[in-house]
Amino acid sequence: MPHDLFDNAVFDPDTVQMMGEVFDAVWTRIEPDFRHLNARKLDSVRVALAGAVLAYTRLGLRDPLVLRAMASCRRKASPLFARSCSPTEQPSVTRVHIRGTRGETKMKTSSKIRYDLSGQIAIVTGASSGLGRATAQALAEAGALTIVNHPPKPSSDAKAAAVVAEIEASGGQSVAIAADVSKEDQVNAMVAEAVRRFGTVHILVANAGIERPAAIQDMSLADWQAVIDINLTGAFLAARAATREFLRRGAVPTLSTATGKIIFTSSVHEVIPWAFQANYAASKGGLAMLMRSLAQELAPMKIRVNSVAPGAIRTPINREAWQTEAARNDLLKLIPYGRIGEPEDIARAVTWLASDASDYVTGVTLVVDGGMTLYPAFRGQG
Ligand code: NAD
Repeated sequence: MPHDLFDNAVFDPDTVQMMGEVFDAVWTRIEPDFRHLNARKLDSVRVALAGAVLAYTRLGLRDPLVLRAMASCRRKASPLFARSCSPTEQPSVTRVHIRGTRGETKMKTSSKIRYDLSGQIAIVTGASSGLGRATAQALAEAGALTIVNHPPKPSSDAKAAAVVAEIEASGGQSVAIAADVSKEDQVNAMVAEAVRRFGTVHILVANAGIERPAAIQDMSLADWQAVIDINLTGAFLAARAATREFLRRGAVPTLSTATGKIIFTSSVHEVIPWAFQANYAASKGGLAMLMRSLAQELAPMKIRVNSVAPGAIRTPINREAWQTEAARNDLLKLIPYGRIGEPEDIARAVTWLASDASDYVTGVTLVVDGGMTLYPAFRGQG
């Protein structure tokens, strides 16, 4: 029940009661419009309303956090509901004082809401499997309308549709857009389609990547080129198209302090050399300097650019490294933390970098590897 949201030790009983009354007054007025919704969607609308009432009570109408809560209302509900939550037709409550010191209460409230990506549009490239899929799910869970990019081929169409369906089943918003990230025209068309359908883009996760292992003497130019084209040029093309849109749109402080956020999926192999995968390591090493250079270039425009560097994560790209027990045991020798990573480990880090919780963080590679880059072979040696 949304009222449970108010039943918090932070608020005194009078305040809780007052918020409950405001909630009931607005809900009674708008509920007939939502009778066609199923129970899950109805609950999500009630939770959005509860959030708006709570934020309004705590902070007053002009605070950005309240405006953000209202954006969430607008996104989740019908135009009538949006009007009920709009600054011009607000619930008539007197501002109340909350028990506890102002600083303590404020920190609690803001640390929750800053992870909220409601009203933001995110593109995740290579999102029909593995880390991209988990990241798309996590961003949607945080409130972003998430575009699931995938290569334009029938097998990927079906996988991307399944990711979209999973997100929607959890109450999120998502669409799939096909584009080969290594093709300039397709990347530009993907971002243009996002802008045409949803107005803009706020978050880009350039995640698509491949491996083509070979000893250097056997590595074909095609193997080299395919990896560089997708892992590095693909990241450049997506970042350029997103940046153009961020700059065109400008800042929207009610949604995010930053004008735009770019997160590259790099790898521990941006620093650890990788024999028989020279093309892959070169692509991720290149990505490190692409990220840092763009971060330096775009910080004055309030565009934050960062990377996540996964270690060994359980996805289709490295199946042979974890599929058999022998392979798993070998792999675990490289991971001091004692477990193989899961896609959600990366998705959480990306979501943090996409949110205002990481405002002031730009130009960093966030290594998420269970300690792989700590060179565990040196433990007790050397
Ligand atoms: P994955 O194979 O499950 O995902 C890669 C995704 O990229 C797939 O969905 C694929 O369809 C997509 N893709 C490939 N070529 C594309 C193209 N031309 N256009 C659009 N999409 C394309 O593997 P993953 O582990 O999820 O890999 C995601 C990223 O994470 C990659 O950049 C990879 O290098 C990086 N990474 C993974 C690990 C790991 O252990 N899994 C470790 C470090 C870095």
